[in-house]
Amino acid sequence: MLLTISSTVAPATDLGFLLHKNPARVHERELPFGMAWVVYPEATEQRCTAALIVEIDPIALLRRKGGGRAGSSSGPSSRFALSHYVNDRPYAASSFLSVALNKVFGTAMTGRSKDRPELAARLLDLEVHLPVLPARGGERLVRSLFEPLGYDVEAVAIPLDRSVPAWGASHYLDVRLAGRLVVKDLLEHLFVLLPVLDDDKHYWVGDDEVDKLLRRGGPWLAAHPERDLITRRYLRYDRRLSTDALVRLIAADDTAVDPDQAAEAHDHEEATVEQPVRLNDQRLATVIAALGRAGARRIVDLGCGQGSLVGQLLKEPWVDRVIGFDVSWRALEQAARRLQLAEMAPRQRDRIDLWQGSLTYRDQRLRHFDAAAVVEVIEHLDPGRLAAFESVVFGHARPATVVVTTPNVEYNSLLEGLGQGCLRHRDHRFEWTREEFGRWCDAVAEAHGYRVERSGIGPTDEARGAPTQMAVFQR
Ligand code: SAH
Repeated sequence: MLLTISSTVAPATDLGFLLHKNPARVHERELPFGMAWVVYPEATEQRCTAALIVEIDPIALLRRKGGGRAGSSSGPSSRFALSHYVNDRPYAASSFLSVALNKVFGTAMTGRSKDRPELAARLLDLEVHLPVLPARGGERLVRSLFEPLGYDVEAVAIPLDRSVPAWGASHYLDVRLAGRLVVKDLLEHLFVLLPVLDDDKHYWVGDDEVDKLLRRGGPWLAAHPERDLITRRYLRYDRRLSTDALVRLIAADDTAVDPDQAAEAHDHEEATVEQPVRLNDQRLATVIAALGRAGARRIVDLGCGQGSLVGQLLKEPWVDRVIGFDVSWRALEQAARRLQLAEMAPRQRDRIDLWQGSLTYRDQRLRHFDAAAVVEVIEHLDPGRLAAFESVVFGHARPATVVVTTPNVEYNSLLEGLGQGCLRHRDHRFEWTREEFGRWCDAVAEAHGYRVERSGIGPTDEARGAPTQMAVFQR
């Protein structure tokens, strides 16, 4: 089985330092199930490629003891006796490759570099080629695992048998990934996600697997939109283990303690506080008017919650298509129910969709919209994740228009029933003054090539402004 990693940032041969493997040599390593080599088929200033070649010895696999399940006998390929000897393990980029990665590039995966510490933290343009990737879940799954982490994904299905086209595609893909990231993260992503795609883990999963997953996947896995699937598959559907891991991941996640709970409480709690001014209706109407003025026809509502804006937009004849996007499945389920998606006439149904995803990870699907609405969402993001949000929405998705609303904290003392110094909702990570919001808007507009105009929504107090602040960004 084969995996190549290429860097195209000059001097590209720095990749050798990062992987702790000199490009001029052939590196060999014995593994419990075979052999691994690292060689560099190319090593120039402009482009350097490290190839990890793993040769599995099926006999060694069989001889291996441990945990009661040895070799591929635990997998779907164990249906006939010969499968011990004749199986895809030697060729497919399975969890064996993941183990080999860990053994061969273990030091690189710690992100430490003795000689060149500054290098280890550098973002590089990296490419990965996996010529034979088993993917139970196909191209869709490969995309949903890697795209949120910022990769461009190219996947070509491999036919079952080239000489018999009628047999169609196998579940193997020829996959290329490209992204701008640090080497350590790339190795971690592969280490965790290869077994998830293969879904045929070859060794016994014990409690230490949870630690391994958390250690390698911790920070990026916690907020990954497919977190649950990744955890479940990595831990091979052991409910006790995956629940344990999920609980710990959620605790480690800085985007939302429990996104579902936060979303559910939101409508109720904030509505109660803001009710006297019927602010929500006014907010929606103002946002819709801004979108209309901008000439938007394809709109995505980022952090759509239970879908009230999506529902209103659907009533507008000038809206061709509207997508509700949220990290919370529960919110999306409620949105689907409230909007009566299941009962919708086909023509209407074609205009709307609900997508689950996170605003702190790049998402290719967000790229083709005229406008994005981000209504009462940014204050739910951890300040540390705000930069990621900015680059996802303004740097990567880049719709022509972005409408953002957020509370004006100066107005809080005028809201009845809100204790002094309290925020409007317990999941709000911050609430900004007009000046703070203004500064953020200007910086974002400047950094990403937008113009921005701000205004207030709701009854305006002379000293404290309006309860909600809105910014309309235009590219
Ligand atoms: N726009 C809606 C909901 C606002 S509540 C309205 O005005 O009523 C904030 C919403 O943002 C919640 O539904 C929450 O699940 C969602 N959210 C929070 N963090 C998110 C993230 N990182 N990615 C996507 N949605 C997120």
